[in-house]
Amino acid sequence: MPLLFNSFDFPALSRMTGIWTNSTHDPDAGDDVTLAQLVVLPPDQDPVVESDFMCSHLPFHVGGFHGVFPDGQGWMVVLQKAPASASLVQMAASDPHWALVDSIQRALRFNYGAKALDFADLTPDFLVRYCIGAGADADVIADWTVTELLWGLLAECCNVSLAEVAAGYQEGCAFPDRDHECQGNVFRDVFAMWTTRALSGHEPDLDEVYGDVDDSEFERWTRKKLKKIKRGELVRMAVADGWDWSDVADVPKELLMRLMVDGQTRPPGTP
Ligand SMILES: [Zn+2]
Repeated sequence: MPLLFNSFDFPALSRMTGIWTNSTHDPDAGDDVTLAQLVVLPPDQDPVVESDFMCSHLPFHVGGFHGVFPDGQGWMVVLQKAPASASLVQMAASDPHWALVDSIQRALRFNYGAKALDFADLTPDFLVRYCIGAGADADVIADWTVTELLWGLLAECCNVSLAEVAAGYQEGCAFPDRDHECQGNVFRDVFAMWTTRALSGHEPDLDEVYGDVDDSEFERWTRKKLKKIKRGELVRMAVADGWDWSDVADVPKELLMRLMVDGQTRPPGTP
């Protein structure tokens, strides 16, 4: 699993819905520290709009990705990097990440209800070791800036391995054997291809994910359990949970199960 997905406690079936980079980031200072911060949005806020708005208030941000939890709640992971001296010297802080944490807290003042949850402070040294451990060519990685190391982690979230990203770095192309609109930059190539949905990973087996869960809110929505229920009864359950009768009355059982299992397609207002 990609390092950034593993760094946070995402519930099963959370989905990444978008990814971005900040092309106007500062160059490396030599003493850079990084912060990946998970921010959860209030209900009904659009992660696309909110992540764009929030990042416009984050001077050190280099990119990130946003998505939704299985219940539809939006979230974003924001990647920042700044010189340690910006905190230790300029602000006389004891934590080299102070400027990055402070930026998030300031930006959150513009979105009442949004909350900063988990964070990961990955050192550039660790990122280099991680990339090499993931199969990337050590000579190529040695040339990467801290921003590029973080973009490598974003590329990994798009189902492209760090070995492939490193292999295409010097040529500026992630997909030399594939017909594509080349962006001339290995990272931009990956992100552009991801938005076309050509890089989707394999779909999780819902029975496998929820099969053994006995006492959770999602238990009643597993395919395994829904399969055993007659179609008419499924319609009644869907209506009891807020679906409009006219929307589900004529839906085939297979589609109905899919709608009921997929938190994204539950009716608005359903917890
Ligand atoms: Zn290309």
